[in-house]
Amino acid sequence: MLRNSKGFTLMEILVVVTIIGILAAIAVPSYINAVEQGRRDACATNVQIVFTQVERYRLTVGKPVPIDVDLVQFLRGIGYLTGAELKCPYDNNEIMIQYKLKYNGQEAIVYCTHCNPEQ
Ligand SMILES: [Zn+2]
Repeated sequence: MLRNSKGFTLMEILVVVTIIGILAAIAVPSYINAVEQGRRDACATNVQIVFTQVERYRLTVGKPVPIDVDLVQFLRGIGYLTGAELKCPYDNNEIMIQYKLKYNGQEAIVYCTHCNPEQ
């Protein structure tokens, strides 16, 4: 039986659309998770950078960084932080997110008010 085969049948189009839908349903959540993980990792890296400079200050100056200051601005003001602005990836200027410092005895703890608010 010869068939005039111009174009696609409705069934073929439905199969392709279904496959694309299944692939999208798998790929989109993975992409969203990867973006979220990247933001959390970037913030953790920023916290580590700030913590390193807090310890550098304590070792160089011989006294701890005060806790009642804007930590990033304080460190930037004394030249311990240079380069691009250091802020949480979730900071979109609508909510106030800061890197804060607290002390557990002598141990300095730097945390992000958005990513680790209960520190
Ligand atoms: Zn953060």
